[in-house]
Amino acid sequence: MRVLMVEDDALDAEILEISLARDSEQAHDITRVETLGKALERLEDDQYDVVLLDINLPDAVGPDPVRQVALSRNGAPVVVVSGKDDEAFAVDMIRAGAQDYVVKGSEAYRNLGRTMRYAVERKESEKQLKQLASFDPLTNLANRQEMCLQLTKACAHADRHGDMVGVFVIDLDNFKLVNDKYGHTAGDQLLKKLAEEIEGAIRAGDTAARLGGDEFCVLLEGIHSASAAQTWADNCLKRINRFVKEHGLGLPLSASIGGVVYPADGHAVDELLRNADLAMYKAKRDGRNSVSFYNERMDRIFTQQQELENELKLAIENSTLHPVFQPKIEIATGKVVGLEALCRWMRKDGSSVSPGEFLPIAQTQWQMLAIGRLMRQQVFAFIDHWTSAGFDLLPVSVNVDGQELGTEGFGEDFVNELERWRLPARAVRVEITETTLVEETEIVRENLYALRHGGIGIELDDFGAGHSSLNYLRQFTIDTIKIDRSLVAEVGVNQQAATILAAVFKLASDLGLKTVAEGVESSQQLRMVTELGADFAQGYLIARPMAGEEVRRWMGRYSERQKSRLESMTGKFRIMSDVDLELMDTKDEKH
Ligand code: C2E
Ligand code: CA
Ligand code: CA
Repeated sequence: MRVLMVEDDALDAEILEISLARDSEQAHDITRVETLGKALERLEDDQYDVVLLDINLPDAVGPDPVRQVALSRNGAPVVVVSGKDDEAFAVDMIRAGAQDYVVKGSEAYRNLGRTMRYAVERKESEKQLKQLASFDPLTNLANRQEMCLQLTKACAHADRHGDMVGVFVIDLDNFKLVNDKYGHTAGDQLLKKLAEEIEGAIRAGDTAARLGGDEFCVLLEGIHSASAAQTWADNCLKRINRFVKEHGLGLPLSASIGGVVYPADGHAVDELLRNADLAMYKAKRDGRNSVSFYNERMDRIFTQQQELENELKLAIENSTLHPVFQPKIEIATGKVVGLEALCRWMRKDGSSVSPGEFLPIAQTQWQMLAIGRLMRQQVFAFIDHWTSAGFDLLPVSVNVDGQELGTEGFGEDFVNELERWRLPARAVRVEITETTLVEETEIVRENLYALRHGGIGIELDDFGAGHSSLNYLRQFTIDTIKIDRSLVAEVGVNQQAATILAAVFKLASDLGLKTVAEGVESSQQLRMVTELGADFAQGYLIARPMAGEEVRRWMGRYSERQKSRLESMTGKFRIMSDVDLELMDTKDEKH
């Protein structure tokens, strides 16, 4: 048995050695050190079966040395040897992590060999119990508690060696989809495999833990720079991406990794984990599938974000989100042929927040379904109100998010809701972005089919802003494409954009699809897109989005202008001039 004896008194040491030499059952290989510091060093480098610890050392006294030795990564059982026959004190030592407390001259002291063997056995059962309490049963990785303990040790180790510890929080993006689509067993299977993958990305001595759900944590020890941490995280992300390609069941899964480095980014374990979490959320907000490292600014931004998140949650609960409407005209006739509903959030202070600011937050919080529901309620109510007041039915387009389209039964619910309002299918249309089609799953297809089957027109939004694969144009579900305003803005500035647009309009018309030019701001742009072949136009030139209560008045004014224009012009409708539009006085939404 390899024994580390920590004893500064030479005489006491000798007595211990003699006592151990009398042990008939086992030989002992004794290494003696005189201070706690030396003992910890030894425990770093060598393997021992047991530590005999005096607790009256030149550099430490009492339960503290016990705690430090017990915490060492060596994991050897600790037997405290003391002259003090005091039960309460003995209990303190055991609490601090000792396996036994032996009073000099006692029976246990005389049979030190046996005492030590008991201590080893006790330590073994403690370890087994600990295994149960420290590991995640699904993945066999460390659990949160164990990870915290390892982090404490790792920090102490880094202090002694002057190096650093990297702490990473890894969160799987869209993991919910796996459970939703394939059930929890499949979800668990995936987490198990991912756990193995993460374990494969670390060295022996580093720790991988599962914090719960689809959140993992990794501790990297003995690193010497923040850039080493960065490199590891980048590689880990690549590894997870490869893993997801192979095992991700075809779902759009990825990972967001947040990292911190001890001691630069925090000292206490709580602080390190919290900051790694902040960095992970930052990575999520950066569009997922990315790595982000903590910096102090995040604290401030995070607090603001959290306030916004809470406020948004309340806004949804209290229905303070509302739609505004932007008209769409048919270019050939100048007639208003529809409205697009866009959501607005009126905050308590009266300021209006645009969707660009709050939808990304809502997305990370999975609130798009709630927002969609809220919008539909109000939009349907407006349509109902307008038609019962004798107003011509104008189809209203609503924007549908990927989270909605990825939810089972969304299409049917949508159609049913419309029926409950006793509105005809042509009263609404939906706008979807290409991104949702890129991630097209069975559920997305079913939902699109249900909408289509219910007679609802589907428009492809933001065409030309992202993927712009012409393939989607051949999808039977889509009947209209909306050309993104960035592309419209390029027309007239950039010859290439005009060429592309002409080709898109041509293809669309060949496929029997209609086209809308979005974000038309000037009459010159309107003229250009008309020449290139757009069917419809929408944009500030015609009208800014306006409150529902404004729509009828605006329509009245618009058709007045329209009539007088048609009277003054013979023949075919010609494109409106700026003067015309100025006279139109659209009573814009305030910006
Ligand atoms: P989008 O669907 O492409 O909507 C058009 C955006 O362009 C709107 O911004 C509109 O106000 C703006 N716009 C219209 N004409 C012009 C113009 O001539 N010039 C310029 N510069 N901008 C113009 P908004 O209302 O801020 O909405 C931004 C995006 O948020 C929308 O882009 C849409 O993707 C999303 N969104 C808005 N409401 C909803 C909603 O209820 N549900 C969902 N899922 N998404 C929504
Ligand atoms: Ca839209
Ligand atoms: Ca758009």
